[in-house]
Amino acid sequence: MKLDVDVLRYLSKDDFRVLTAVELGMRNHEIVPTELIDRIARLKHGGTYKVLKNLLKHKLLHHDSSKYDGFRLTYLGYDYLAIKTMVNKGVFVGVGRQIGVGKESDIFEVLCEDGTVLAMKLHRLGRVSFRAVKSKRDYLRHRSSYNWLYLSRLAALKEFAFMKALETHSFPVPKAVEHNRHCVVMSLVQGYPLVQVKQLQNPEVVFETILGIVVRLAEHGLIHCDFNEFNIMIDDDEKITMIDFPQMVSVSHRNAQMYFDRDVECIFKFFRKRFNLSFQESIDDNDGSNEEKDEDGRPCFSEIERSAGFLDKELAASGFTRKDEEDIQRFIEGGEEADNSDSEGDDSAEDLNESNLLPDEEHENKGKHESCEAGESVASEKEDATDENEKEENEMEDEAELNKSLNKQRQRAIAATRRGRKSLASRNSYKDKGGRSSHSSKLQKQLSGW
Ligand code: ADP
Ligand code: MG
Repeated sequence: MKLDVDVLRYLSKDDFRVLTAVELGMRNHEIVPTELIDRIARLKHGGTYKVLKNLLKHKLLHHDSSKYDGFRLTYLGYDYLAIKTMVNKGVFVGVGRQIGVGKESDIFEVLCEDGTVLAMKLHRLGRVSFRAVKSKRDYLRHRSSYNWLYLSRLAALKEFAFMKALETHSFPVPKAVEHNRHCVVMSLVQGYPLVQVKQLQNPEVVFETILGIVVRLAEHGLIHCDFNEFNIMIDDDEKITMIDFPQMVSVSHRNAQMYFDRDVECIFKFFRKRFNLSFQESIDDNDGSNEEKDEDGRPCFSEIERSAGFLDKELAASGFTRKDEEDIQRFIEGGEEADNSDSEGDDSAEDLNESNLLPDEEHENKGKHESCEAGESVASEKEDATDENEKEENEMEDEAELNKSLNKQRQRAIAATRRGRKSLASRNSYKDKGGRSSHSSKLQKQLSGW
């Protein structure tokens, strides 16, 4: 996705006010009714409608009139809110080039006032595989708060909390600087993902170091769950930094042994294939039993001594609660189960349209867990470009229609203001079941001082 931060410069205070109004509205609505946005933003003279057009033009919002007339934030819109907040807090002053595209994130360089360059990770937890959507939808259907905004924010919160805790315990991780919404700012790792490295001076040393990290994590009560060549950075001095923590679990997790063995297996497999490391026992001959794993030097999960309570106590203190952990884990595991059980043939466009998880349809193409062999290539996203063009054409046709409707609503709002009363209810069938005025005034309070 293109992140043209120049747009930020041209966005006015009113633009951000309306964007924030949509964000607040999304706490209770998947699509926020236009009239509600207007009531939350409270711009004078029907200004909201003009601003909505501008935000739509810059693709910060998506318009939906299928059930009632309304808008939702796009990833881009959410990005701008987080970036603006970071800039206001003085965390950084500018956004630079994109340095990484993960399965569920985009990573950019950001520039601080003193010239330091940091890394900004924007989480995109709705960016899941077609197969994963189905099972997630089953439980998400009943919980409207489980939308992509919530999940991406939770992933950022978890990543930040884990990074801090791991740093405290001297694990080689980036330095956590700040988080807001779905965005985490951290130190920039000087180096490359191990997957890009073709040769090492000391492959055995690097291998032992990496394996040592997995074991030490388990001693501290944690399993990375995605510990592979994509999430291990290495610099020119062959110094290791581990990244990417939203999927980490406690050693008391019911599948802990499996996750631990999988992390270990990924490392063994990669080093054998890429650097021709041979282990005491050929991995191909391994039938999976613990005994043989011991023989070829694999750490045995059940024999690792651990200091309990690390995850629960320190992470809860950081603001990442047990409920947060349960929520995000259910999402991640939902994806894994779906990836394992569903057949691709079952996927249909209808399935996707029904999902309330999907912020931008173009992002529906990646699974959660990185396999040892699967690359983090963005090729499949490019394939979706054709679909995206078609979508844009349709959107252009809709635009004239929408402009007309927004203008009408604007005129109505102006007329209502002149008559000294509230704007009329929308022509559309939207009904706010949760008590409109009380909810609106609560949101209004959150907006004040903004
Ligand atoms: P995902 O969860 O989507 O896999 P990652 O955290 O693994 O995202 O980041 C994706 C890529 O971005 C990494 O493989 C790496 O190349 C780059 N990256 C992530 N964090 C940093 C960082 N702190 N410094 C430098 N590069 C980074
Ligand atoms: Mg990753």
